[in-house]
Amino acid sequence: MAGEFELIANYFNWPAEDKSVDTSVGDDGAVLNISPDHQLIISVDTLVAGVHYPLDTSPSDIGYKSLIVNLSDIAAMGAEPRWFTLALTLPNYHSNWLNGFSAGLKQAANEYGVSLIGGDTTRGAQTISIQMMGEAVIGKALKRSAALAGDGLYITNTLGDAAAGLQIHQINQSSSPRKILSDSEAYCVARLNRPTARVNESKIIRQYANACMDISDGLLQDLSHILQASQLGAVIDTSAIKLSSQLESLYNHEEGLKFALSGGDDYELLFSVAKDKQESFENEMQNEGLAFQLIGKLVDDTNDIFDQEGNVLNASGFQHF
Ligand code: ADP
Ligand code: MG
Repeated sequence: MAGEFELIANYFNWPAEDKSVDTSVGDDGAVLNISPDHQLIISVDTLVAGVHYPLDTSPSDIGYKSLIVNLSDIAAMGAEPRWFTLALTLPNYHSNWLNGFSAGLKQAANEYGVSLIGGDTTRGAQTISIQMMGEAVIGKALKRSAALAGDGLYITNTLGDAAAGLQIHQINQSSSPRKILSDSEAYCVARLNRPTARVNESKIIRQYANACMDISDGLLQDLSHILQASQLGAVIDTSAIKLSSQLESLYNHEEGLKFALSGGDDYELLFSVAKDKQESFENEMQNEGLAFQLIGKLVDDTNDIFDQEGNVLNASGFQHF
């Protein structure tokens, strides 16, 4: 791509402040010093314009969100996010877009203290691929396969806001003239465009949880991955699931619950904690002011998800194909 080196120099060559970064953008490969007694945790996520975010999403929101979705994966592993690479494919060199995108990306990188250490730049349909690397103490990474029957099933914060935000955005996009969003509507759209990676929560969760993952494709669908990996079933008390006050104010509870169970893009953590650790876990989260909900428990002998009345809940979330 013409101007590729100028593009990298202008927008993506940030001085690495982290001392673990020996060599960063500008060489054929990055050189990193990994902490002793730690394992490297690696994850990659690709965002395609119009598929993973609406085409009219602001460039800075795209930059911000593309880092968050990757930070969320590292948090879900119970690891500390440290470094990332960026593979950027763009149809053209558009400095307004690049300014916004790199500002949003940099903001997220600063907020979460992670370093951009390299990447690749190519011409084509707008696609952002970020590889995030983190560290976990040897043997301590949280895996989907380690849940146990009897574990309490928890989520961080609340679910459903981002999926509602997408619907609100889509309805507003097709209305002419576009209306001004109410505070609650704007909150949901902001949860879609600027999600939170639960990195702080992960620091506590990793001390107590058996299994953990992040919810990107909807609670029921993502839970089914833990169930398959751990060969367990689950009972969810849907009547106990709390929604955000914003979601409650916009939809009736049934509709809100549908977003929470099957909507995607929340990036909350879903994890299981053994009964004898639940009290200490809950106390520590409360002391730190971190929000969570106990939504059910894991059970033996089935891969199904039941509600409190014994009805099977269907796991239909976002399907990529
Ligand atoms: P090479 O030809 O060796 O693959 P490139 O020309 O692709 O090198 O990249 C030059 C340098 O710039 C490398 O250090 C690479 O990691 C970095 N880089 C390329 N694209 C990006 C990007 N979008 N963001 C950050 N660093 C990038
Ligand atoms: Mg290259």
